[in-house]
Amino acid sequence: MEAIWLYQFRLIVIGDSTVGKSCLIRRFTEGRFAQVSDPTVGVDFFSRLVEIETGKRIKLQIWDTAGQERFRSITRAYYRNSVGGLLLFDITNRRSFQNVHDWLEEARSHVQPHTIVFMLVGHKCDLETQRQVTQQEAEKLSGAYGMRYIETSARDAINVEHAFTELTRDIFDLVRSGDITIQEGWEGVKSGFVPNVVHSSEEVTKSDRRCLC
Ligand code: GDP
Ligand code: MG
Repeated sequence: MEAIWLYQFRLIVIGDSTVGKSCLIRRFTEGRFAQVSDPTVGVDFFSRLVEIETGKRIKLQIWDTAGQERFRSITRAYYRNSVGGLLLFDITNRRSFQNVHDWLEEARSHVQPHTIVFMLVGHKCDLETQRQVTQQEAEKLSGAYGMRYIETSARDAINVEHAFTELTRDIFDLVRSGDITIQEGWEGVKSGFVPNVVHSSEEVTKSDRRCLC
């Protein structure tokens, strides 16, 4: 049976080059840690379904940069068509933390008239002995921005599911409350897909249909 999803959310992952964006996305979508990733290989996006409540699935379309972040040459369309984002820095690289502000400004200036729900992510938390940014200062910054803060490791699979799922839930709540709406010509949120022929689980389909209304 084909997957049923209520909505599709398009997410982006931004932050300095080498902070671990591609590895985080691949850990989440492929379940493995690809040690070496070529920054110039431009795989556009990765997809995965997440179940946020029993029977309620969201399809995530997660866009990766193809090395453009090196030159801060990410296009406006990359930001404009997204509803959510992970703003990454590397906890062992202080400079990447200092640049978080610039990334956020860049995103905000490009995203008009929409908004992006961001989560601040301190990545490579497996490298505790090399830490250059404390959890407290990162939490202070995320608090100032009104975002959540989470620490992740793609290498050791720490909080990877949690980061994407929490962000998805936050966006879902805003969609449910009407603060974020589906708009023609905008890729951020798309309405769900319900197959015409359902071979099993008629009940799930019915309740999903209700949610779509
Ligand atoms: P990007 O440029 O932000 O996409 O970064 P990459 O995903 O290409 O990763 C850059 C480097 O960081 C690579 O050498 C990865 O192996 C390494 N890396 C990524 N995630 C982790 C992690 O969670 N822990 C550790 N220790 N290294 C990581
Ligand atoms: Mg990359």
